[in-house]
Amino acid sequence: MSGPTPKDGVLDMPAYVGGKETVDGVKNPFKLSANENPLGAGVKAQAALSDFGSDTGDLSLYPDGGARALREKLAALNNIDAARIVCGNGSDDILSLLAQAYLGPGDEMVHTAHAFLIYKLAGRATGATPVEVAEQDLTANVDAILAAISDKTKIVFLANPNNPTGTMLDKDAVARLHKSLPDSVLLVLDGAYAEYVDPDIYPAAFDMVDAHDNVVTTRTFSKAYGLAALRLGWGYCPPQIADALNRLRGPFNINSAALHVGMAALDDQAHIEKSRAHNAQWRDWLVQQIGGLGIGVRSTQANFILLEFGDADEAARAEAAMCAAGVIPRGLAAYGLPTRLRLSIGTQDANRAALAALESFNDGDDA
Ligand SMILES: *Cc1c(COP(=O)(O)O)cnc(C)c1O
Repeated sequence: MSGPTPKDGVLDMPAYVGGKETVDGVKNPFKLSANENPLGAGVKAQAALSDFGSDTGDLSLYPDGGARALREKLAALNNIDAARIVCGNGSDDILSLLAQAYLGPGDEMVHTAHAFLIYKLAGRATGATPVEVAEQDLTANVDAILAAISDKTKIVFLANPNNPTGTMLDKDAVARLHKSLPDSVLLVLDGAYAEYVDPDIYPAAFDMVDAHDNVVTTRTFSKAYGLAALRLGWGYCPPQIADALNRLRGPFNINSAALHVGMAALDDQAHIEKSRAHNAQWRDWLVQQIGGLGIGVRSTQANFILLEFGDADEAARAEAAMCAAGVIPRGLAAYGLPTRLRLSIGTQDANRAALAALESFNDGDDA
């Protein structure tokens, strides 16, 4: 072999494999594998995208690299400080920037056993060592995380609620975790599903960021806002962390269309309310109906549920049967959960199709 060699660690990274998007021989399947909003983007966001490029955007101009207007709107909506907001090309961008800024070879980053896969990848990309911590009943275990902290630990990544388990730590547990972490360890609270959680029980991540120098929280427009295609996310950071990320990020890491549509989406909180209500209604319906089939099902605070089968083989057969019936779930072998499938809450039609597919799978499987 000749040619340049990537730096150490890069070729040890497994490439990220996302949820299936298509099924051979099935036209327009219901894609319930990526936790996208089944209601799509709101009407205001869609109208803003149609305007863009004709009325409002000039495609020949660079975007506002500081995303000032969007940050100010986010700050007003959430009652937080615009100067501490850093926007990213999806929140994955912010997670990678945090890893790049605070991790390097010899450092350790801590994540839980079935955490969102991007953490491990973002850490590995820097040459740091991911340290995996056991969960308890698919839930992050504060004591186990604390026991894994060494003097090499630089970041603890925690999605709350987590994808794919859907479990979350309450306010007291997150506070206890933070309290026992050394000041030099960054706690990253990934709030990708925050909009779906009952606000009464959602841990006050923004307040924690305001009160401490070592907490960052991330948010995304990809889930409840229904804008995954545009790649827009953000982090709320202590000032010195925002400063580090702003030096490191691409100067124009968010494109003008995303900025423009993101603003309109924030002005449409009715769409978030509607999405939350749709999600809660159909999540509860699916849990009840699928549970009624005798399939193990676990509800979550997010926009997906977990199905549990007897063994990995049965889960794989259920996945194949659902795909053949035109409903794509997310297989979770890569997450160390081979007996489970993750199912995003879809449109009414998609949810009914998912149930019907599981019903026939059950019948066929028993026969
Ligand atoms: C979907 C998801 C994200 C991020 O997505 P972006 O599209 O990059 O904003 C981040 N964290 C978790 C846990 C997710 O499930």
